[in-house]
Amino acid sequence: MHPYALFTTALICAATAGCSATKKPASSPPLETVKPDPPAALPPDGASKAKTIDWSAFDSASVRNPNDGALRGGVPLPLTAPGLRFNPERDPNARYGTVEMVRGLVAAGNRVDQELGGLPVTINDLSYAHGGPIPHHRSHQSGRDVDVLFYQLGPDGKPIESVGAFFDRSGAGVDFRDLADPSDDVALQLDIPRTWLFVQALIEDGGAQLQHIFVAEHLRTLLLDYGRAHDVSATTLTRFAEMSCQPGYPHDDHFHFRFFCAPDDIAEGCRDSPPMYPWQRQRLKAAGVRPLPLASKRKQAKAKIVTHEEAREAAGPLDAEVERWLELRKQWIDPPHPGRTYCP
Ligand SMILES: [Zn+2]
Repeated sequence: MHPYALFTTALICAATAGCSATKKPASSPPLETVKPDPPAALPPDGASKAKTIDWSAFDSASVRNPNDGALRGGVPLPLTAPGLRFNPERDPNARYGTVEMVRGLVAAGNRVDQELGGLPVTINDLSYAHGGPIPHHRSHQSGRDVDVLFYQLGPDGKPIESVGAFFDRSGAGVDFRDLADPSDDVALQLDIPRTWLFVQALIEDGGAQLQHIFVAEHLRTLLLDYGRAHDVSATTLTRFAEMSCQPGYPHDDHFHFRFFCAPDDIAEGCRDSPPMYPWQRQRLKAAGVRPLPLASKRKQAKAKIVTHEEAREAAGPLDAEVERWLELRKQWIDPPHPGRTYCP
């Protein structure tokens, strides 16, 4: 286990409504979430077949809320596909989502691969096969949430396999590896063009129906500035600006994406949190359905969340450079963005 990933992940999970976790659970998932065999049409390793997957063969349904819900007919994200990999450090039981979301992720990874090459995007947790509470996350219960690591560049400026490192206002970060050993640190840079294109692909995918992009405010600014300086449609830029925000704790080491209920899931009880954007209202109107408000959250929907103190304790000794970066991080953990509020 990468100690740094554990530390940052636990910090994130301590304070967010939907968070990353990069740790395989020590115990088995609850009985009701044990995965079925993946459907025959979608092999766990989809590397050679991702382009020919017949997504219409799947019929999933996201039920209730992201923070108190279930998933029927959950579709497993391929462990690998062109331009995409499920994080090999993660619990593969936590890679199920709605067909709309999984298809959208595969398509976005593939688009970046086709247009810019480089290494695959690294996908962290989705939901369990049947949804429900999942360790380290408050949401991720109904197959419509996913954590995605940023594309990253190594010290030579070339793509490097993504890790759960956090990035500062200039897009610089460090893979600390052993947190107590300053000699093994690797300097990283946020790969803005590929990271932007992945998000752009999700936004422009009408079938995926992205709702939220949870990301730290300073990284949102870097991405938005990049999009504005390049050949991106005004609609995509406006939607990115509206959908993206920093939650109560900054997502400075990964994205958390949330997708809307697919129109045909609403009749099965799928419920969206606000906001409901005008373009989504139009989609639903065209499909002849009306959105349902969130259901009241049930007690049993709670998952085990690691506290900041537990995370710090588990991380053990830290070298001076790690301490320096954690101090730096406080600049954007507290409300750092005049004029914009935290996510609703
Ligand atoms: Zn998350």
